[in-house]
Amino acid sequence: MNLDDAHHGPPRWRYLLLAVAILVLAGAALTMLWQLPRLFPQLAAATATATPAPTTPTPALLHPLIADLRTGVDDSARTITFQMTAQMPPGRQIVEALLWYDTKAGQQVRRFPGPLPAGSVLEYRLDATQEGLTTTLPGGTLDYWWLVRDTSGEPARAGGTVALGPDWQVLVATPTPEPPPVDFTWAVSGTQYFSFTYVAGTEAERDLAQIAAMARAGLAAITPTLGVDLDGKLTIYLTPRVFWQGGAAYGNKTNLISYLDRNYTAIETWTYFTHEGAHVLAQDLVQPKEEGGPDGVLVEGLAVWATGGHYRRGPIDDLAAIIADSDSYIPLSTLRAGPFYDFQHETSYMEAGSFVRFLVGRYGLDRFKQLYGQATGKAEQDEPLVESLYGKSYAELEAEWLEYLDSLSPTPEQAEAWSFNVRYFDLMRRYQTELEPNARILPDVPTGWTSNTVAIFTRRMVEPVNVVFETALIAAQDRADQGDVAGASALLDDVEAGLDSKGEPTRPSLQARQAIYDLLAAQDRAILRADPRAYRATLTPADAPALEVQAAAAIRLPLTSYWQEIVRLDVADDGQSATGVVLVHGRTVDGDFPDDGRLYAIKLIKAGAHWLLSSREPIEPQFMMPPRSAP
Ligand SMILES: [Zn+2]
Repeated sequence: MNLDDAHHGPPRWRYLLLAVAILVLAGAALTMLWQLPRLFPQLAAATATATPAPTTPTPALLHPLIADLRTGVDDSARTITFQMTAQMPPGRQIVEALLWYDTKAGQQVRRFPGPLPAGSVLEYRLDATQEGLTTTLPGGTLDYWWLVRDTSGEPARAGGTVALGPDWQVLVATPTPEPPPVDFTWAVSGTQYFSFTYVAGTEAERDLAQIAAMARAGLAAITPTLGVDLDGKLTIYLTPRVFWQGGAAYGNKTNLISYLDRNYTAIETWTYFTHEGAHVLAQDLVQPKEEGGPDGVLVEGLAVWATGGHYRRGPIDDLAAIIADSDSYIPLSTLRAGPFYDFQHETSYMEAGSFVRFLVGRYGLDRFKQLYGQATGKAEQDEPLVESLYGKSYAELEAEWLEYLDSLSPTPEQAEAWSFNVRYFDLMRRYQTELEPNARILPDVPTGWTSNTVAIFTRRMVEPVNVVFETALIAAQDRADQGDVAGASALLDDVEAGLDSKGEPTRPSLQARQAIYDLLAAQDRAILRADPRAYRATLTPADAPALEVQAAAAIRLPLTSYWQEIVRLDVADDGQSATGVVLVHGRTVDGDFPDDGRLYAIKLIKAGAHWLLSSREPIEPQFMMPPRSAP
């Protein structure tokens, strides 16, 4: 067995890479970036391999340095040897060294306790038959890193990749998916009116203060509209994944709301609080009866009216007028007979919202509350009820409402936006059914969840296909919001074509997303294994120095996981550039990673066949508060 220079394979490549490293160093010096070797000690290490590693610290050494990394693969013995030599500044020793490699056993991190003299050669031999080889990476590669800390507490980290031949594949086990958490507990945070229940470490925890403000403002907006005060406390469960349209109301003043940066429903978060909150407040209007309750028109109509729109504030009556004037119109008697939730969702909700708005506006809130409280959902009981309260039949009220809608003049832009909206949500639900079927589960109240339900609703979706399609949906909605309905529709065409091919990205806008996903995955691996050279390969040359300085802090930390989740991505029409937002997830040996949960705005450029990162700046999450009062 021979120990190879960690970074490189055959000797010819070694010289080439060495030449590249020297050129890079020369370039860095020319551009006055003399601090690069300090930021990335491996660059200095690369030159050190040209001559035998020095056995005594050089007088100029100011920081700990991993001077030499080697790995050796013994195919017949099934062993991988990791070897590292570190140099320390004068008078310092190694107090601790760590070795991480990307298998189930290696993720536990091996510790080499000090004190050890500078220049010590540390070695670990991985016996694959004994400890197993569970790798997450395809193609027979294994990432690893070493970290040393000196007596002053200063760390140095560097790593690389081991290539495993094809005969190793029989040994490689795919990691078994994590079993459902048996001891999962929700994190809970309470305010005067709300109890928030969420998954620790998710966006809900990061944004809790703003979520509480949003919920409070939402409640303040709907209570005067409904003329009902909250009796008791609302319990709000926040799940880091999308289900249906992302909101549900249960008895006992309980709501379940999707809260995640990559929420592809494009629903303004505050409307979950007003819509689902209106359902909860309205539960107190319902008078005790043997069975039944208000029908879907009354229930959803009330929530849409109280919110002032569906998913966002909107011209409810103008939109209902557009529907009433089209083939999509569903007669109210049909909607009432139900099942309400089987009709085209956006159409039925908007009709219901406008009808309730009409009843309240023309005949008053009190009469509507009586109807809501006494309705049974059965035509034979509700027809006489309506006649006794309004002196008119449901059919007559519907005719009055349609007459009112007929007097309105919605604009062509509103009609265009509405048909986009319907198409968007129909396509979104098709995406869920075909590529994210768990999102079509409408879960039971969270207190009754099985471990299986917990496993689904406490974990985010991370598969590339989901990121590709969801970011395309989000980008389409963003374009529509900016008035570019044509561009938005073209993107929906691409999503539709992708669904027609069972999730294959057939169109350039989706292929670009897949390529950018792959680029960021390569970047994640480079940061995780402390490999600045591999990180640099993902950057535009002009922006590399600044981006490398930014990454230096993460490269020094003992990361045990690191990934950038793409939560937004818009690819320019010419396919040559893209902008997006990534959410960073990571952990270190010691636990917390300061960047975990942070958002970065990114810019990418296509150079030939490849995408490269050109900009990455921290940004804060955006919050949209409910309007002061509903219409
Ligand atoms: Zn609802």
